Amino acid sequence: MSYDVDAIRAQFPGLDDAREGKPFAYLDSAATTQKPRCVLDAVARWLGPAYGTVHRGLYRRSVASTQAYEDARATVARFLNADAKEVVFTMGTTDAINLVAWSWGRSRLKPGDQVLVTGMEHHADIVPWQVTAPITGAELVACPLLDDGSLDEAAFDRLLASGRVKLVGLVHIANSLGTVNPVRRLAAKARAAGATVLIDAAQSAPHVPLDVATLGCDFLAFSGHKVYGPTGIGVLWGRGEVLESMPPWRGGGEMIERVSFERTTFAAPPARFEAGTPPIVEAIALATALEWLMAIGLEAVAAHEHDLFTYAEGLMAQVPGLRRIGTAPERAGVLSFTLPGAHPADIAAVLDMENVAIRAGHHCAQPVMARFGVPATARASLGCYTTRADLDRLAAGLHKAVKLFG
Ligand code: PMP
Repeated sequence: MSYDVDAIRAQFPGLDDAREGKPFAYLDSAATTQKPRCVLDAVARWLGPAYGTVHRGLYRRSVASTQAYEDARATVARFLNADAKEVVFTMGTTDAINLVAWSWGRSRLKPGDQVLVTGMEHHADIVPWQVTAPITGAELVACPLLDDGSLDEAAFDRLLASGRVKLVGLVHIANSLGTVNPVRRLAAKARAAGATVLIDAAQSAPHVPLDVATLGCDFLAFSGHKVYGPTGIGVLWGRGEVLESMPPWRGGGEMIERVSFERTTFAAPPARFEAGTPPIVEAIALATALEWLMAIGLEAVAAHEHDLFTYAEGLMAQVPGLRRIGTAPERAGVLSFTLPGAHPADIAAVLDMENVAIRAGHHCAQPVMARFGVPATARASLGCYTTRADLDRLAAGLHKAVKLFG
Protein backbone atom coordinates (compact mmCIF):
# COMPACT_ATOMS: atom_id res chain seq x y z
CA MET A 1 0.00 0.00 0.00
CA SER A 2 1.34 3.44 -0.86
CA TYR A 3 2.03 6.02 1.84
CA ASP A 4 -1.09 8.15 2.22
CA VAL A 5 0.19 11.32 3.85
CA ASP A 6 -3.18 13.08 3.52
CA ALA A 7 -4.92 10.30 5.43
CA ILE A 8 -2.22 10.54 8.09
CA ARG A 9 -2.52 14.33 8.34
CA ALA A 10 -6.28 14.11 8.72
CA GLN A 11 -5.70 12.35 12.04
CA PHE A 12 -3.77 15.29 13.52
CA PRO A 13 -5.95 18.12 14.86
CA GLY A 14 -2.76 19.99 15.76
CA LEU A 15 -1.89 20.46 12.09
CA ASP A 16 -5.19 22.15 11.33
CA ASP A 17 -4.16 25.71 12.21
CA ALA A 18 -4.40 27.97 9.16
CA ARG A 19 -3.77 31.67 9.76
CA GLU A 20 -4.90 34.41 7.35
CA GLY A 21 -5.43 31.81 4.68
CA LYS A 22 -1.97 30.35 5.17
CA PRO A 23 -1.95 26.67 6.11
CA PHE A 24 0.19 25.61 9.05
CA ALA A 25 3.52 24.07 8.08
CA TYR A 26 4.79 22.37 11.21
CA LEU A 27 8.51 21.75 10.78
CA ASP A 28 9.55 21.29 14.40
CA SER A 29 8.88 17.61 14.97
CA ALA A 30 12.44 17.05 16.23
CA ALA A 31 11.49 19.20 19.23
CA THR A 32 8.14 17.53 19.71
CA THR A 33 5.58 15.85 17.48
CA GLN A 34 1.90 16.58 17.03
CA LYS A 35 -0.48 13.87 18.27
CA PRO A 36 -2.86 11.68 16.28
CA ARG A 37 -6.47 11.57 17.41
CA CYS A 38 -6.14 8.01 18.77
CA VAL A 39 -3.59 9.31 21.29
CA LEU A 40 -5.86 12.20 22.30
CA ASP A 41 -8.72 9.71 22.68
CA ALA A 42 -6.57 7.39 24.80
CA VAL A 43 -5.67 10.28 27.13
CA ALA A 44 -9.33 11.33 27.39
CA ARG A 45 -10.45 7.77 28.14
CA TRP A 46 -7.76 6.74 30.62
CA LEU A 47 -7.78 10.12 32.38
CA GLY A 48 -11.58 10.24 32.28
CA PRO A 49 -14.08 7.40 32.56
CA ALA A 50 -11.43 4.67 32.84
CA TYR A 51 -9.13 6.47 35.29
CA GLY A 52 -7.76 4.64 38.28
CA THR A 53 -4.45 3.96 39.96
CA VAL A 54 -2.21 1.02 39.17
CA HIS A 55 -0.73 -1.85 41.16
CA ARG A 56 -2.65 -1.16 44.39
CA GLY A 57 -6.34 -1.35 43.88
CA LEU A 58 -8.42 -4.49 43.96
CA TYR A 59 -11.47 -2.90 42.34
CA ARG A 60 -12.15 -3.37 38.64
CA ARG A 61 -11.10 0.11 37.56
CA SER A 62 -7.67 -0.22 39.10
CA VAL A 63 -7.21 -3.74 37.80
CA ALA A 64 -8.01 -2.50 34.27
CA SER A 65 -5.58 0.42 34.64
CA THR A 66 -2.86 -1.91 35.86
CA GLN A 67 -3.47 -4.25 32.96
CA ALA A 68 -3.34 -1.39 30.43
CA TYR A 69 -0.16 0.01 32.04
CA GLU A 70 1.60 -3.36 31.88
CA ASP A 71 0.25 -3.96 28.35
CA ALA A 72 1.83 -0.61 27.45
CA ARG A 73 5.16 -1.94 28.65
CA ALA A 74 4.68 -5.00 26.45
CA THR A 75 3.94 -2.73 23.47
CA VAL A 76 7.15 -0.78 24.06
CA ALA A 77 8.99 -4.09 24.26
CA ARG A 78 7.55 -5.10 20.89
CA PHE A 79 8.53 -1.71 19.44
CA LEU A 80 12.15 -2.34 20.50
CA ASN A 81 12.18 -6.14 20.04
CA ALA A 82 12.92 -6.47 23.74
CA ASP A 83 11.61 -8.25 26.83
CA ALA A 84 8.99 -6.31 28.83
CA LYS A 85 11.05 -6.82 32.02
CA GLU A 86 13.76 -4.71 30.39
CA VAL A 87 11.48 -1.72 29.78
CA VAL A 88 11.54 1.00 32.44
CA PHE A 89 9.09 3.86 32.16
CA THR A 90 10.75 7.22 32.78
CA MET A 91 9.72 10.82 32.25
CA GLY A 92 11.66 11.01 28.98
CA THR A 93 15.11 10.62 27.47
CA THR A 94 16.66 13.09 29.91
CA ASP A 95 15.21 11.23 32.86
CA ALA A 96 16.31 7.86 31.41
CA ILE A 97 19.93 8.99 31.00
CA ASN A 98 19.90 10.47 34.51
CA LEU A 99 18.73 7.08 35.76
CA VAL A 100 21.75 5.42 34.13
CA ALA A 101 24.14 8.12 35.36
CA TRP A 102 22.90 7.99 38.95
CA SER A 103 22.33 4.26 39.30
CA TRP A 104 24.80 2.55 36.96
CA GLY A 105 27.28 5.43 36.90
CA ARG A 106 27.53 6.07 40.61
CA SER A 107 27.82 2.38 41.46
CA ARG A 108 30.29 1.41 38.72
CA LEU A 109 32.56 4.33 37.95
CA LYS A 110 35.86 4.62 39.82
CA PRO A 111 38.60 7.25 39.90
CA GLY A 112 40.45 7.25 36.59
CA ASP A 113 37.52 5.80 34.61
CA GLN A 114 36.17 7.65 31.62
CA VAL A 115 32.72 8.18 30.15
CA LEU A 116 33.08 8.76 26.42
CA VAL A 117 30.38 10.62 24.51
CA THR A 118 30.31 12.05 21.01
CA GLY A 119 30.79 15.74 20.35
CA MET A 120 27.27 15.87 18.94
CA GLU A 121 25.36 14.74 22.04
CA HIS A 122 22.32 16.61 23.28
CA HIS A 123 22.90 18.19 26.71
CA ALA A 124 20.81 15.30 28.08
CA ASP A 125 23.74 12.94 27.42
CA ILE A 126 26.42 15.35 28.64
CA VAL A 127 25.23 17.07 31.79
CA PRO A 128 24.07 14.00 33.78
CA TRP A 129 27.63 12.66 33.41
CA GLN A 130 29.11 15.99 34.44
CA VAL A 131 26.95 15.89 37.56
CA THR A 132 27.68 12.28 38.54
CA ALA A 133 31.19 11.54 37.23
CA PRO A 134 32.99 13.90 39.65
CA ILE A 135 31.29 12.17 42.58
CA THR A 136 32.97 8.93 41.51
CA GLY A 137 36.29 10.41 40.38
CA ALA A 138 35.60 9.49 36.75
CA GLU A 139 35.91 11.99 33.91
CA LEU A 140 33.84 12.80 30.85
CA VAL A 141 35.58 12.90 27.48
CA ALA A 142 34.09 13.86 24.12
CA CYS A 143 34.98 12.40 20.75
CA PRO A 144 35.57 15.17 18.18
CA LEU A 145 33.57 15.68 14.99
CA LEU A 146 34.70 16.07 11.41
CA ASP A 147 33.82 19.22 9.45
CA ASP A 148 30.77 17.59 7.86
CA GLY A 149 29.31 16.80 11.29
CA SER A 150 30.14 13.11 11.29
CA LEU A 151 32.03 11.44 14.11
CA ASP A 152 35.81 11.32 13.85
CA GLU A 153 35.92 7.55 14.07
CA ALA A 154 39.72 7.39 14.12
CA ALA A 155 39.64 9.57 17.22
CA PHE A 156 36.90 7.36 18.67
CA ASP A 157 39.15 4.31 18.21
CA ARG A 158 42.10 6.12 19.82
CA LEU A 159 40.02 7.22 22.80
CA LEU A 160 38.73 3.68 23.33
CA ALA A 161 42.25 2.30 23.15
CA SER A 162 43.10 3.99 26.49
CA GLY A 163 41.33 1.10 28.20
CA ARG A 164 39.82 3.58 30.65
CA VAL A 165 36.43 4.03 28.98
CA LYS A 166 33.69 2.34 31.04
CA LEU A 167 30.66 3.79 29.29
CA VAL A 168 30.09 5.09 25.78
CA GLY A 169 27.13 7.41 25.14
CA LEU A 170 26.05 7.59 21.52
CA VAL A 171 23.35 9.71 20.00
CA HIS A 172 21.72 7.73 17.18
CA ILE A 173 20.53 10.75 15.17
CA ALA A 174 21.90 14.12 16.27
CA ASN A 175 19.11 16.64 16.82
CA SER A 176 21.34 19.61 15.93
CA LEU A 177 22.96 18.17 12.78
CA GLY A 178 20.87 15.28 11.50
CA THR A 179 23.94 13.06 11.50
CA VAL A 180 23.04 9.37 11.68
CA ASN A 181 25.72 7.60 13.66
CA PRO A 182 26.75 4.04 12.74
CA VAL A 183 25.66 2.95 16.21
CA ARG A 184 25.93 -0.80 15.56
CA ARG A 185 29.56 -0.50 14.51
CA LEU A 186 30.44 1.97 17.27
CA ALA A 187 28.66 -0.14 19.90
CA ALA A 188 30.56 -3.25 18.78
CA LYS A 189 33.88 -1.42 19.11
CA ALA A 190 32.93 -0.02 22.51
CA ARG A 191 31.86 -3.40 23.85
CA ALA A 192 35.03 -5.01 22.49
CA ALA A 193 36.91 -2.41 24.54
CA GLY A 194 34.96 -3.48 27.63
CA ALA A 195 32.63 -0.49 27.77
CA THR A 196 28.91 -0.41 28.48
CA VAL A 197 26.97 1.32 25.69
CA LEU A 198 24.07 3.73 25.95
CA ILE A 199 22.20 4.86 22.82
CA ASP A 200 20.20 8.09 22.85
CA ALA A 201 17.41 7.20 20.45
CA ALA A 202 15.32 10.34 21.08
CA GLN A 203 15.54 11.34 17.42
CA SER A 204 15.74 7.89 15.84
CA ALA A 205 12.74 6.25 17.55
CA PRO A 206 10.21 8.21 15.42
CA HIS A 207 12.19 7.77 12.20
CA VAL A 208 13.74 4.30 11.91
CA PRO A 209 12.96 0.81 13.18
CA LEU A 210 14.89 0.01 16.38
CA ASP A 211 15.92 -3.50 17.38
CA VAL A 212 17.83 -3.75 20.64
CA ALA A 213 18.52 -7.42 19.95
CA THR A 214 20.85 -6.42 17.12
CA LEU A 215 21.97 -2.88 18.03
CA GLY A 216 24.51 -4.25 20.49
CA CYS A 217 23.90 -1.66 23.21
CA ASP A 218 23.23 -2.09 26.93
CA PHE A 219 20.90 0.89 27.34
CA LEU A 220 18.62 2.77 24.95
CA ALA A 221 16.52 5.82 25.77
CA PHE A 222 13.72 7.64 23.98
CA SER A 223 10.91 10.14 24.70
CA GLY A 224 7.18 9.65 24.24
CA HIS A 225 6.50 13.16 23.00
CA LYS A 226 8.79 12.71 19.99
CA VAL A 227 7.05 9.52 18.84
CA TYR A 228 3.58 11.04 18.60
CA GLY A 229 2.82 10.25 22.25
CA PRO A 230 2.36 12.49 25.32
CA THR A 231 4.94 14.47 27.27
CA GLY A 232 6.00 13.27 30.71
CA ILE A 233 6.72 9.73 29.57
CA GLY A 234 9.76 8.04 28.11
CA VAL A 235 11.59 4.77 28.13
CA LEU A 236 14.84 3.34 29.32
CA TRP A 237 15.53 -0.05 27.87
CA GLY A 238 18.30 -1.87 29.72
CA ARG A 239 19.82 -5.27 29.08
CA GLY A 240 18.28 -7.64 31.66
CA GLU A 241 21.41 -8.62 33.55
CA VAL A 242 22.66 -5.02 33.60
CA LEU A 243 19.40 -3.69 35.08
CA GLU A 244 19.42 -6.54 37.61
CA SER A 245 22.84 -5.49 38.83
CA MET A 246 21.93 -1.82 39.34
CA PRO A 247 20.93 -0.18 42.63
CA PRO A 248 17.83 2.02 42.85
CA TRP A 249 18.29 5.73 42.24
CA ARG A 250 15.00 7.06 43.59
CA GLY A 251 13.32 5.60 46.61
CA GLY A 252 9.64 5.45 47.44
CA GLY A 253 6.54 3.41 46.88
CA GLU A 254 6.32 0.65 44.29
CA MET A 255 10.05 0.03 44.02
CA ILE A 256 10.38 -2.03 47.18
CA GLU A 257 9.93 -5.62 48.25
CA ARG A 258 9.79 -5.09 52.04
CA VAL A 259 10.31 -1.94 54.07
CA SER A 260 11.27 -1.65 57.71
CA PHE A 261 13.30 0.93 59.57
CA GLU A 262 16.01 -1.67 59.99
CA ARG A 263 16.25 -3.01 56.46
CA THR A 264 14.52 -2.41 53.14
CA THR A 265 14.79 -4.70 50.14
CA PHE A 266 14.09 -3.61 46.61
CA ALA A 267 11.86 -4.94 43.88
CA ALA A 268 13.28 -6.52 40.74
CA PRO A 269 13.53 -4.35 37.60
CA PRO A 270 11.69 -2.64 36.07
CA ALA A 271 9.72 -1.78 39.28
CA ARG A 272 13.01 -1.04 41.11
CA PHE A 273 13.39 2.04 38.94
CA GLU A 274 9.78 3.25 38.98
CA ALA A 275 9.35 4.84 42.42
CA GLY A 276 5.99 6.42 43.16
CA THR A 277 2.73 6.48 41.24
CA PRO A 278 3.82 6.30 37.61
CA PRO A 279 2.57 8.40 34.68
CA ILE A 280 -0.22 5.89 34.08
CA VAL A 281 -2.18 7.68 31.38
CA GLU A 282 0.95 8.86 29.60
CA ALA A 283 2.35 5.32 29.44
CA ILE A 284 -0.90 3.92 28.06
CA ALA A 285 -1.17 6.72 25.49
CA LEU A 286 2.47 6.22 24.52
CA ALA A 287 1.63 2.61 23.72
CA THR A 288 -1.31 3.85 21.62
CA ALA A 289 1.09 6.08 19.70
CA LEU A 290 3.56 3.24 19.15
CA GLU A 291 0.81 0.87 17.98
CA TRP A 292 -0.32 3.59 15.58
CA LEU A 293 3.23 4.12 14.30
CA MET A 294 3.88 0.40 13.93
CA ALA A 295 0.64 0.01 11.98
CA ILE A 296 1.89 2.57 9.45
CA GLY A 297 5.31 0.91 9.58
CA LEU A 298 8.60 2.54 10.53
CA GLU A 299 10.10 1.50 7.18
CA ALA A 300 7.33 3.36 5.34
CA VAL A 301 7.80 6.43 7.54
CA ALA A 302 11.57 6.32 6.99
CA ALA A 303 11.11 6.10 3.21
CA HIS A 304 8.63 9.01 3.20
CA GLU A 305 10.95 11.17 5.28
CA HIS A 306 13.98 10.23 3.20
CA ASP A 307 12.19 11.41 0.07
CA LEU A 308 11.23 14.68 1.76
CA PHE A 309 14.71 15.18 3.14
CA THR A 310 16.26 14.96 -0.31
CA TYR A 311 13.59 17.31 -1.64
CA ALA A 312 14.25 19.82 1.16
CA GLU A 313 17.99 19.71 0.55
CA GLY A 314 17.39 20.50 -3.12
CA LEU A 315 15.24 23.51 -2.17
CA MET A 316 17.75 24.76 0.37
CA ALA A 317 20.59 24.53 -2.15
CA GLN A 318 18.75 27.21 -4.17
CA VAL A 319 18.56 29.72 -1.31
CA PRO A 320 21.37 32.26 -1.83
CA GLY A 321 24.01 32.16 0.90
CA LEU A 322 22.31 29.43 2.95
CA ARG A 323 24.88 27.45 4.94
CA ARG A 324 23.98 23.95 5.97
CA ILE A 325 25.35 22.80 9.31
CA GLY A 326 25.57 19.02 9.20
CA THR A 327 26.36 17.43 5.87
CA ALA A 328 27.51 13.99 6.98
CA PRO A 329 27.07 11.25 4.36
CA GLU A 330 24.39 9.64 6.55
CA ARG A 331 21.86 12.23 7.67
CA ALA A 332 18.15 12.29 8.36
CA GLY A 333 15.20 14.13 9.81
CA VAL A 334 16.81 17.43 10.70
CA LEU A 335 18.05 20.30 8.49
CA SER A 336 20.14 22.88 10.35
CA PHE A 337 21.25 26.05 8.58
CA THR A 338 22.20 29.70 8.81
CA LEU A 339 21.66 32.65 6.48
CA PRO A 340 24.18 35.48 6.12
CA GLY A 341 23.14 38.65 7.96
CA ALA A 342 20.21 37.04 9.75
CA HIS A 343 20.11 35.67 13.28
CA PRO A 344 18.37 32.29 13.29
CA ALA A 345 15.69 33.80 15.55
CA ASP A 346 14.97 36.39 12.82
CA ILE A 347 14.64 33.63 10.22
CA ALA A 348 12.19 31.80 12.49
CA ALA A 349 10.22 35.04 13.02
CA VAL A 350 9.93 35.68 9.26
CA LEU A 351 8.79 32.10 8.73
CA ASP A 352 6.28 32.36 11.55
CA MET A 353 4.64 35.25 9.69
CA GLU A 354 4.16 32.76 6.86
CA ASN A 355 2.71 30.27 9.38
CA VAL A 356 5.76 28.03 9.00
CA ALA A 357 7.07 26.73 12.35
CA ILE A 358 10.77 26.00 12.64
CA ARG A 359 13.14 26.06 15.61
CA ALA A 360 15.99 28.50 16.14
CA GLY A 361 18.59 28.23 18.87
CA HIS A 362 21.37 26.00 20.10
CA HIS A 363 19.09 22.96 20.21
CA CYS A 364 20.51 21.93 23.61
CA ALA A 365 23.77 21.13 21.84
CA GLN A 366 26.01 24.08 22.67
CA PRO A 367 29.23 22.09 22.03
CA VAL A 368 28.01 21.50 18.46
CA MET A 369 27.41 25.23 17.99
CA ALA A 370 30.92 25.94 19.29
CA ARG A 371 32.41 23.31 16.96
CA PHE A 372 30.83 24.99 13.94
CA GLY A 373 31.50 28.53 15.15
CA VAL A 374 27.87 29.66 15.29
CA PRO A 375 25.81 30.85 18.27
CA ALA A 376 22.71 29.12 16.97
CA THR A 377 21.14 27.62 13.86
CA ALA A 378 17.72 27.61 12.29
CA ARG A 379 16.37 24.08 12.09
CA ALA A 380 13.59 22.52 10.08
CA SER A 381 12.68 18.97 11.00
CA LEU A 382 10.38 16.37 9.51
CA GLY A 383 7.64 14.09 10.76
CA CYS A 384 5.48 11.35 9.30
CA TYR A 385 2.90 14.01 8.35
CA THR A 386 5.28 16.42 6.58
CA THR A 387 4.55 17.14 2.92
CA ARG A 388 6.41 18.65 -0.02
CA ALA A 389 3.97 21.56 0.22
CA ASP A 390 5.25 22.29 3.76
CA LEU A 391 8.78 22.38 2.39
CA ASP A 392 7.81 24.57 -0.57
CA ARG A 393 6.40 27.07 1.91
CA LEU A 394 9.59 26.87 3.96
CA ALA A 395 11.67 27.59 0.86
CA ALA A 396 9.44 30.52 -0.15
CA GLY A 397 9.81 31.95 3.37
CA LEU A 398 13.57 31.55 3.23
CA HIS A 399 13.76 33.45 -0.07
CA LYS A 400 11.74 36.20 1.63
CA ALA A 401 14.18 36.24 4.55
CA VAL A 402 17.13 36.52 2.17
CA LYS A 403 15.50 39.57 0.56
CA LEU A 404 14.89 41.13 4.00
CA PHE A 405 18.26 40.46 5.56
CA GLY A 406 20.59 39.85 2.62
N1 PMP B 1 18.49 13.59 23.04
C1 PMP B 1 18.16 14.10 21.85
C2 PMP B 1 18.96 13.70 20.64
C3 PMP B 1 17.09 14.99 21.73
O1 PMP B 1 16.77 15.50 20.54
C4 PMP B 1 16.36 15.34 22.89
C5 PMP B 1 15.20 16.32 22.83
N2 PMP B 1 15.44 17.45 22.05
C6 PMP B 1 16.73 14.77 24.11
C7 PMP B 1 17.79 13.90 24.16
C8 PMP B 1 16.01 15.09 25.38
O2 PMP B 1 14.71 14.61 25.31
P1 PMP B 1 13.63 15.03 26.42
O3 PMP B 1 13.70 16.52 26.51
O4 PMP B 1 12.35 14.53 25.87
O5 PMP B 1 14.04 14.36 27.69
